[in-house]
Amino acid sequence: MALWGIDLGGTKIEGAMIDPARPGEALHRLRVPTESAKGYEHVVSQIELVVSELERVSGQRRPAKIGIGTPGATEPSTGRLKNSNTTCLNGRPLAADLSAKLGVRASLANDANCCALAEATLGAGRGRSVVFGVIVGTGVGGGIVVNARLIDGRHGIAGEWGHNPMRGETARCYCGRTGCVETVFSGPALERFYQDSGGEALRLPEIVRRADAGELRATATLDRLVEKFGEAIAAVINLLDPDAVVIGGGVGNLDLLYTERTRQAVLAHVFNPELQTEFLRPQLGDSAGVFGAAMLGAD
Ligand SMILES: [Zn+2]
Repeated sequence: MALWGIDLGGTKIEGAMIDPARPGEALHRLRVPTESAKGYEHVVSQIELVVSELERVSGQRRPAKIGIGTPGATEPSTGRLKNSNTTCLNGRPLAADLSAKLGVRASLANDANCCALAEATLGAGRGRSVVFGVIVGTGVGGGIVVNARLIDGRHGIAGEWGHNPMRGETARCYCGRTGCVETVFSGPALERFYQDSGGEALRLPEIVRRADAGELRATATLDRLVEKFGEAIAAVINLLDPDAVVIGGGVGNLDLLYTERTRQAVLAHVFNPELQTEFLRPQLGDSAGVFGAAMLGAD
């Protein structure tokens, strides 16, 4: 039976129907604009539009449960959305409102968690029981999947390693704290490090190119990525001891993170003499968000 998922983004809302036995591609997939400037009720209507369009193109009726990936997280104690950069959603009981509007059970999860769920169940981490799916890009986030189920946590923040503190780091984070992982090796943080050490304002791929050409400042920037990534992910491994870590996002795309050198940088901080954890590239690309949302509808 097909699973239905919706990926609610800041600019578009994507809907997909998938057959989990054949996860390679969606049975049906479509998108509409979010138009969040028109307000919360409009966004809810646009989601209803995606669901009715899926019914129309598939000739099927909506299932009893639909998974929905959202920016931000649902506060478990109130059911209201928080931490969303689509600000009209914050403070709103989106799951309850969607369940009422769609006439189904709406199962919500943070969009990074949906990506982790998709990669753990349909993508790179398939077949492993404990998977930590991370995004290292503009920000640093993550999601924990155990036996094909997302761990949300008491506050809905499970897996948010991007705001763990790092030793010796003092940069201010937007979250109000200092020295967060995200201020050290997100893409913008690495670009800032390169510039602060006397370089030009360059994007990360160009810094990588210059490191390959032997430029010392660029090499130092990537050394910092390896060392700090090793320290930060080791803290997660010591706590969760996952079978696999799937590394998504623009920084996660760098070959450097899958080398023996990086494994050694991780192992240096792991409370074990050897490291069997797999570090895997994501396999689902930009389908991960909507596929993961659909997988919320499994069980
Ligand atoms: Zn922070």
